[in-house]
Amino acid sequence: MKKSLALIVPCYNEQEVLPLFYEETGKVLQKLSAGFQTELVFVNDGSADNTLNVLKQFAEKDPSVKYISFSRNFGKESAMLAGMEYAVHADYVGIIDADLQHSPDLITEMLYYVDQEGYDVAAAKREDRAGEAKLKSALSEGFYKVINRVSDTKISDSAQDFRIMKRKVVEAVLAMPERIRFSKGIFSWVGFNVKWIAHENRERAAGETKWSIRKLFRYAFDGILSFTDSPLRLSFLFSAIGAFLTLFCLVYALVRTIIGEYNALIPVILAAVFGVGAVILFVLGVFGEYLARIYTEAKGRPQYVVSETNTRS
Ligand code: UDP
Ligand code: MG
Repeated sequence: MKKSLALIVPCYNEQEVLPLFYEETGKVLQKLSAGFQTELVFVNDGSADNTLNVLKQFAEKDPSVKYISFSRNFGKESAMLAGMEYAVHADYVGIIDADLQHSPDLITEMLYYVDQEGYDVAAAKREDRAGEAKLKSALSEGFYKVINRVSDTKISDSAQDFRIMKRKVVEAVLAMPERIRFSKGIFSWVGFNVKWIAHENRERAAGETKWSIRKLFRYAFDGILSFTDSPLRLSFLFSAIGAFLTLFCLVYALVRTIIGEYNALIPVILAAVFGVGAVILFVLGVFGEYLARIYTEAKGRPQYVVSETNTRS
């Protein structure tokens, strides 16, 4: 029996690029069809444009096209999750962006490594950040420096979501129940034997990126807070600094009082009050961030809501 490959494609307002994506990826899958039973799993992440209709047209002509359409925009993480939950029956599960920034040609090579060379995962690694906004690259670099310093899970700057995984890897990823999902961290956390394939960054074939600076900041926050609890320990550091400053101020005030300058006490006390207040508020803020996440996880809401799909009959 042929082995099966399911390729997950998260789509958010991708009507412009989808026909081109389908054509290019179709060619690659066609070539693979001698050895594999292939399937395209499009996840429409609440697009406001014509994406769903485009997908339905593909599905009408091509029985290997599946679509899962969300009731609203839930984000790429949820789209990937929905795709994996559906596709876990396949021997190999791939994830690829719809905008052709992930070259479909690489699928053949990735599949070779997991199918023939004994790797569990074949994943793309970005070679450079060409074609990306300067500010975005700089911010990303800073973020990965911070996260790798504070987290035990190594999270690579250049690792992309573009990958093919064996079913056992997908099962491991699905076994992580968190609602706030940071896939880069999750893929790294599960481990396994990964073949990294260099992949040059390409410009989007059509349409626009869905990442605003605000969304990127949210993403960075989620990444750090999901994979390390070290910010919670910042309060120890601050209390040490605070203790040192208090001691310093006391000695300073004492000396000046002894030499007769009584007023020196007031600015010192004021500074101490404000300083301590600021530190306490900061630490409370960090606690609050984790608390908010615990709250989100505790509510246990579904990660997405499907409104239409051709995967259930
Ligand atoms: N995407 C999604 N939901 C979102 C945002 C993006 O499913 O809320 C999809 C999008 O359609 C694309 C992929 O995720 O297939 C990557 O998005 P994008 O190209 O905007 O990100 P970038 O490549 O700029 O990092
Ligand atoms: Mg893109």
